[in-house]
Amino acid sequence: KSTTVPKGDVSVNYTEEDEEDDVVDLAANSLLNKLIRQSLVESSHQVEVLQKDPSSPLYSVKTFEELRLKEELLKGIYAMGFNRPSKIQEMALPMMLAHPPQNLIAQSQSGTGKTAAFVLAMLSRVNVLELFPQCLCLAPTYELALQTGRVVERMGKFCVDVQVMYAVRGNRIPRGTDITKQIIIGTPGTVLDWCFKQKLIDLTKIRVFVLDEADVMIDTQGFSDQSFRIQRALPAECQMLLFSATFEDSVWQFAERIIPNPNVIKLRKEELTLNNIRQYYVLCEDRKDKYQALCNIYGGITIGQAIIFCQTRRNAKWLTVEMMQDGHQVSLLSGELTVDQRASIIQRFRDGKEKVLITTNVCARGIDVKQVTIVVNFDLPVNQAEEPDYETYLHRIGRTGRFGKKGLAFNMIEVDKLPLLMKIQDHFNSNIKQLDPEDMDEIE
Ligand code: ADP
Repeated sequence: KSTTVPKGDVSVNYTEEDEEDDVVDLAANSLLNKLIRQSLVESSHQVEVLQKDPSSPLYSVKTFEELRLKEELLKGIYAMGFNRPSKIQEMALPMMLAHPPQNLIAQSQSGTGKTAAFVLAMLSRVNVLELFPQCLCLAPTYELALQTGRVVERMGKFCVDVQVMYAVRGNRIPRGTDITKQIIIGTPGTVLDWCFKQKLIDLTKIRVFVLDEADVMIDTQGFSDQSFRIQRALPAECQMLLFSATFEDSVWQFAERIIPNPNVIKLRKEELTLNNIRQYYVLCEDRKDKYQALCNIYGGITIGQAIIFCQTRRNAKWLTVEMMQDGHQVSLLSGELTVDQRASIIQRFRDGKEKVLITTNVCARGIDVKQVTIVVNFDLPVNQAEEPDYETYLHRIGRTGRFGKKGLAFNMIEVDKLPLLMKIQDHFNSNIKQLDPEDMDEIE
């Protein structure tokens, strides 16, 4: 059921789902991250390494030449514009390329070079003269598998005899087909099917097994069981590699069970902080009043770009219409959009084509738009129990200390929500000042 509310020349569709909070879809966010990524994510932390054999020497490399890669692979790396290994690659690559092969569990936030590292490992271990699957990479979704495949194709551009195949739903291969491609990338269900039911892949011939995005993987019903079934059929000498952007206990337990005798590499994430953010709140009666306050802020200070967060899609749509009618260039990013649509909206915003981005919680995380000067909580983030959602507050407003420019944050608060805000203030031990929206001089 949906109704269209015409407002001037702007029309927005309202559906029943709009009343709901957008839920965070890990796989979609991970894909979005890949689509909008422009370069490596830096970290000021040291890489932590835990070797399975602590007495063996620990190698790290500062250049790709030191890895003694095949000529054509090195050419592919340089053609991608990589000059030197990323922080995590410095430690991970020598382990991954060692003889005899070593198993590895690696954790670092998205964008730090994990995919490039294991693609390099797969490409360097392929024997092009052998025409059967030798490397197997499991990914949580079809789209993520394709993204990884693209990296294989780019990095392997000069490795002309290396070929990739996707074991994903919809890619039907007749039973008994002789697969001659060396690298298989797929989702656990289809890979399992290809291995055991259709007998297209002989797991005993796999040399490198990669489990990518383990945190997203275990979040999907059935995927960890399927991964185990595949893993158990691999030969003892197969190299096993697992990657994850986060490391909750559940991921860690899965990783330790599925990767025997691993080396472990971790790169901690840059912490978010509220220290360099000036936070304000405006007391409001209702939604209209909040909007008025927002307009006053807009009239009162010079704003580069702003992100405005709403709790529900309905509110986000309403606000979008209001602002458009007042002549603002705004765009709306919400959960019903496809990942490609979201990526293109974020890209336009980054390019400055819109000044205001209105969004719900879906996009609160992971999007990094450096030129944003203000963040507005049109609604405070709350959880199901109507308690403040501190994590989300921090993710919306916080910046990493190292790159942090000064930021401004405004909270639009109905009087009855004030206790929630006070809890947030106490939780972060920071100061959220009340602002009289008629008097913007307070903001220097
Ligand atoms: P992750 O798998 O950890 O999310 P990726 O391997 O996808 O990270 O790398 C993130 C981005 O950085 C990609 O755009 C990738 O092409 C680029 N990249 C990876 N390694 C390097 C490197 N050594 N030098 C420069 N850019 C790199």
